[in-house]
Amino acid sequence: MSPAGQPDPTLAQGLLAGGMMNRPLMIADVLVYGADVYGDTTITSRRAEGDLHTATYAQTLVRTEKLAKALIDLGVKPGDRVATLAWNGYRHVELYYAVSGIGSVCHTINPRLSAEQVQFITHHADDRLLFVDLTFVPLVEKMLHIMPPGLRVVIMCGREHMPATSIEGALCYEELLDAQDPGYAWPRFDENTASSLCYTSGTTGNPKGALYSHRSTVLHAMMCAIAFQTALFPGSTVMPVVPMFHVNAWGSPYTAPLTGSALVMPGPNLDGKSLFELMDQTGVHSAWGVPTVWLGLLETIKAQGRVPNGFKDVVVGGSAAPRTMIEQFEERGVSLCHAWGMTEMSPIGTQANLTPPLSELPYDQQIDLKTKQGRRCFGVEMKIVDEDGNAQPHDGKAIGELYVRGNNVIREYYNNPEATADNFDDQGWFGTGDVASIDAYGMLNITDRAKDLIKSGGEWISSIDMESTALAHPHIANCAVIAIPDEKWGERPLLVAVPEAGQVIDKDSVLELLATRFAKWQLPDDVVTVEALPLTATGKVSKLTLRQNLTTSA
Ligand code: AMP
Repeated sequence: MSPAGQPDPTLAQGLLAGGMMNRPLMIADVLVYGADVYGDTTITSRRAEGDLHTATYAQTLVRTEKLAKALIDLGVKPGDRVATLAWNGYRHVELYYAVSGIGSVCHTINPRLSAEQVQFITHHADDRLLFVDLTFVPLVEKMLHIMPPGLRVVIMCGREHMPATSIEGALCYEELLDAQDPGYAWPRFDENTASSLCYTSGTTGNPKGALYSHRSTVLHAMMCAIAFQTALFPGSTVMPVVPMFHVNAWGSPYTAPLTGSALVMPGPNLDGKSLFELMDQTGVHSAWGVPTVWLGLLETIKAQGRVPNGFKDVVVGGSAAPRTMIEQFEERGVSLCHAWGMTEMSPIGTQANLTPPLSELPYDQQIDLKTKQGRRCFGVEMKIVDEDGNAQPHDGKAIGELYVRGNNVIREYYNNPEATADNFDDQGWFGTGDVASIDAYGMLNITDRAKDLIKSGGEWISSIDMESTALAHPHIANCAVIAIPDEKWGERPLLVAVPEAGQVIDKDSVLELLATRFAKWQLPDDVVTVEALPLTATGKVSKLTLRQNLTTSA
């Protein structure tokens, strides 16, 4: 039997079993390794309190040990879900390691979700404890009554910054740590134990949870360490702007200590000017985030007439980087690399760093290639299929829905058999909802999206949910929500509505209705009235035609 209690498949087939140890892959080991081998390497964080804080990996390990003991003293048991509502910062890193290190599950909550979604996920996850950055205290004060009863709240600051709050029994993070002595023997358990939980938007209905394991997280970190060698190496400094509350900051809190790279955590201020200043001050070599963030940084770079000190590498994902953005970075000596992935993939699947012979092509052709999403990381397999599920050739021409499998890919949604049944094919591959081609070099090119979702500034809006809410408006007979390209946000929602006979649709009353279910940033930029919606041959609303009509007439 393997340590996981599963029959060893090698033995089951009557083959000769290897004679090697089988030690579980544990998340805590990553930080222990970072502290041991790269102990002086630092995490520098812009704190919600406003100042800059620096700690080494060795110091971070000591604090994480204390946090682990504090969690146990608070009654957190293996398997319990501990939620966070926090920016990228060192305390959030400590929580990533301490919560999963004691065998409980770190549930990162996206503060950009609507109240209804936060209510759903905190109950679905059955969170026991909630760690909150100072910035989000007012949000929690407003929403605590819709969260699971008895949820205890810890505010992530020192006693001197503890706010006056209506949150009953709110605890102080630094006080919890101060009460503990250093030193903790990290328990060892089955590597398939759940470690962390992240919800992603569904095309309809409620968010769906991806429940990662120690094994998937450590393998994903090792896989990324190999794939992003231009960013992650001893002596490098990496700044994840991509949030720790969504897609695990692309795994950077794990890959950095593993590779000896320093981390710079930007905290709450993500505008171009703040990022430029922080990067300049800390000498960020590689910065990671969605295109919207880089538009802001590029503006400051242009105004300053230079890139921040030491800036050489930018990784873009979450949405496609436009060609002009790639050129603007490359022209200034900053190499841009696309990465593609999903919450359901831990999240990285591909990366587009060019290697020979592609890196020897003329400049223009290299830029063309950089607009694509790149080649698969080790351990990730990809196939594209037609409507009948037939695998299509990787010739750069055939287009189909992209399916993936690998150790970093979910095999099911957390406690959600319906979503699981809808998203996997009969061979167990996961359907990404992205439409793509793959060329002979294995280069992935995302061309469209099969899922009915809009991505604005890296965050999702469900068009179907918005349509069904809008249909409750007494003057709307039919409607469709489509993505309109937007220079800053990538996409923005537009509501196209057909009025009831003899009625005029009042935009403000529609937005008011939508605001009961959607966060402010999710509301459509405009409500356009049309006489009828274009239909496909099968009688469905043709969003493609609608998009073409409305974007060409705009
Ligand atoms: P999320 O789970 O929120 O990270 O969203 C994953 C989805 O974002 C993918 O299925 C794609 O639709 C989109 N996406 C992620 N990375 C890229 C990229 N580099 N280019 C285009 N779309 C992307």
